[in-house]
Amino acid sequence: MTQLQSLRGMVDLLPEQTCRWQAVEAVARVHFQRWGCREIRTPLLEVTELFARGIGEATDVVGKEMYTFQDRGDRSCTLRPEGTASVVRSALQNGLLSQGAQRLWYGGPMFRYERPQAGRQRQFHQIGVEWLGVSSAASDAEVIALAWDLLADLGVEGLALEINSLGTPDDRLAYRTCLVEWLEARRDQLDADSQQRLSTNPLRILDSKHPQTKALLEEAPLLEQSLAPESLARHQAVLQALDALAIPYQCNPRLVRGLDYYGHTAFEITSDQLGAQATVCGGGRYDGLVQQLGGAATPAIGWALGMERLLLVLEAAATANPDGRAAQLVQAATPDVYVVNRGEQALQAALVLTRQLRSCGLAVERDESGSAFGKQFKRADRSGAAFALVLGDEEAERGVVRIKPLKAVPDADGLADQQDRSLNDLPALVEALKKGANSVATSGD
Ligand code: ATP
Ligand code: MG
Repeated sequence: MTQLQSLRGMVDLLPEQTCRWQAVEAVARVHFQRWGCREIRTPLLEVTELFARGIGEATDVVGKEMYTFQDRGDRSCTLRPEGTASVVRSALQNGLLSQGAQRLWYGGPMFRYERPQAGRQRQFHQIGVEWLGVSSAASDAEVIALAWDLLADLGVEGLALEINSLGTPDDRLAYRTCLVEWLEARRDQLDADSQQRLSTNPLRILDSKHPQTKALLEEAPLLEQSLAPESLARHQAVLQALDALAIPYQCNPRLVRGLDYYGHTAFEITSDQLGAQATVCGGGRYDGLVQQLGGAATPAIGWALGMERLLLVLEAAATANPDGRAAQLVQAATPDVYVVNRGEQALQAALVLTRQLRSCGLAVERDESGSAFGKQFKRADRSGAAFALVLGDEEAERGVVRIKPLKAVPDADGLADQQDRSLNDLPALVEALKKGANSVATSGD
């Protein structure tokens, strides 16, 4: 029978990777908790209209990239391509917004029918935050600081923040008129895609990757020139707050984001760790979205970071600096203790001991090959455990277990040499192992 394969762009996360993912997620959870963000989990499947109305019909995501189908009840359903619209829908549906400002975070798979390549998949994962009901310029800087500090704490190096203001809907309308007029006069110099966008979503042309279009855009009028004085002042206030937080940024007047709901602050955070600058995090303010989805006018801001791209960046950082924070995070999990056992009587004692140690919180791997001690010790070394516990029939007979350090343990812990310990004094054994495993971990061996 032929073996079945996963769908194109849908990628398995194998144990070696899930370990790393969990480490990253754990750090993210700590930061969210410090920032007062609470987790929200929404369904992967939503009515198609949510994204059509929320993200905008003329965007690439809605126009070309959604997984949309009719369910058995003939409703049009879509696998979520991003998190913001769902979070806002849920907040409205569950009355969260009547309880004051909401600082929320989410994580999980998103689906976009794109051309798969490195760091771009059809099922990918995001972690994101949405702050609903917060309007100040300071909050824009604060939400950016959350992303910045999280990425820095993860050991991502070469971070750069690009920021722009997309102004109010009126500002964008004024700019749209001016941009379309300018581009219409140069229509024949635009690529086919951009020509089409001229009537559907002209601001997105600024995001074009087409070299000739990009070159032409160098000369195009800038959004900044259409911003009302209040919008400019707001943008300045955000930049000042970033200055106060000592977060470096670069103003990029051509930064527009792929989704229609953004206004005022828009930003992206990139890392140079993969050679070229890779966008790991994108976000901005979306004051109009709640209303567009049927709620009362509510200011809001958020960002999402791409887990796959973040992991690529972290792996590169770990290779570049084997002693750094990223290397620590992507390290495979190892057991604390490896139990080497051989013989009928030893097996019973090892089973009991292993279970006891596990219930005391130690990660224990027991060799179940029954092979010669030499072979078991080789596996113990490969396991990365700090200690081997050795049980042969002779030890079992005497009611002891031999502790053999597999890594250099500071002498002070009294575990530098191998020694026998009584099986009847479990607390002393556990304490010694935990202390030893701890000092091995902190000595960085
Ligand atoms: P891009 O310009 O790379 O397509 P985007 O603007 O479509 O990005 P957002 O919607 O802002 O991306 O999503 C935020 C982050 O999610 C991105 O910065 C990226 O890290 C990640 N991301 C987006 N699309 C994908 C994908 N198809 N596969 C993997 N990660 C993705
Ligand atoms: Mg995209």
